[in-house]
Amino acid sequence: MHELSLCRSIAGIAGDHSAGHSVERVRVRIGALRQVVPETLVYCWGVLNEGTDLAGSTLEVEHVPAAIDCTACGAHTLLMLPALRCGTCNSSDVVLVSGEEFLVTSLDLTEA
Ligand SMILES: [Zn+2]
Repeated sequence: MHELSLCRSIAGIAGDHSAGHSVERVRVRIGALRQVVPETLVYCWGVLNEGTDLAGSTLEVEHVPAAIDCTACGAHTLLMLPALRCGTCNSSDVVLVSGEEFLVTSLDLTEA
């Protein structure tokens, strides 16, 4: 399952950065083009971390819309459909500027 392997990556990153502290909250930023269902990710987080150092921690998902910049007219378009086309002039000469994010943006830690 896609979400489960993402959770393993996030847990690995959190573990690497939390040395000696317990993790209360992990924030991640995930682009729309990653096709991740945030609710499923949060569910997997709870299941995966049961009985581990990360048990009881909260996963917060920030969803980033896909966006493109048009090379032809310079317009910025948020994509509602998976079509890489300028929303202003309909050109397909565009640069993908967001939507592929997968980042752990912060950890809230307490003394263990
Ligand atoms: Zn354009």
